[in-house]
Amino acid sequence: MDFRLEYIPPTAPALKPQVRFAPGLFEKMRFSVGAMPPETYAILSGSLSDPLRVLDFHPMAPPDDARGIYRNSMGTVMLDAKRIEYYANTCLYPFDREILGIAHSHPGDMNSLSNGLPGSGQGDIPSMRAQLERAARYGTPWHNFIAPIITRPGPDPVVTTWIVRLDTPHPILAETIWEKEEPAPEPSLDSELVDLLLARPDLVNELLRRDRLINSPLRIHQKRALRLVQLLHGAHKRRSGR
Ligand SMILES: [Zn+2]
Repeated sequence: MDFRLEYIPPTAPALKPQVRFAPGLFEKMRFSVGAMPPETYAILSGSLSDPLRVLDFHPMAPPDDARGIYRNSMGTVMLDAKRIEYYANTCLYPFDREILGIAHSHPGDMNSLSNGLPGSGQGDIPSMRAQLERAARYGTPWHNFIAPIITRPGPDPVVTTWIVRLDTPHPILAETIWEKEEPAPEPSLDSELVDLLLARPDLVNELLRRDRLINSPLRIHQKRALRLVQLLHGAHKRRSGR
């Protein structure tokens, strides 16, 4: 037996891009598209300078048909282009927000984007590509169409986020990150300092007078602290009429 082993470098699993949703959007998704029977949709908006971070999830109704019934079914949903335009012109563009993509629901466990004839504008991928092409014609730097698919609406909907780009033929599977509200920040040094000054101005005055001994944040903020002492001193004098 004679063979040569060729060195094959270990392949790292390709890193999925992350699509982040701002705090509060998980709830918005869960009580709208994530709760209603498919198919329904929501507009995703944010800034094109941070194109993979969604700042709002705005559910919208499909357009009405001639009988006044929503144009959606278990397997398809029509977007209401007129109202999307109205929404964008009144709620997004004036606030430097842009449409970053559209989330919509699918029946069953169909968590991928539907295809259609290229250029037909029909089906998820062709219609999303058509939007990106239109943006490119207007010189708008919209390169990533964020396209989450929501399945299993109910208490625990499943979200699979895709990114459609013109430079790749297939949608890119992304990691979906739902940001949590940051905990309330610790009280700042300033407010602690003010509390201390109010409680013991004599002590703070004394500490600041002997500033060489101070090895504390008070020293760092000495100038500001002194100004506060003076202000408080002034206020005290005015209040006591001296
Ligand atoms: Zn679809």
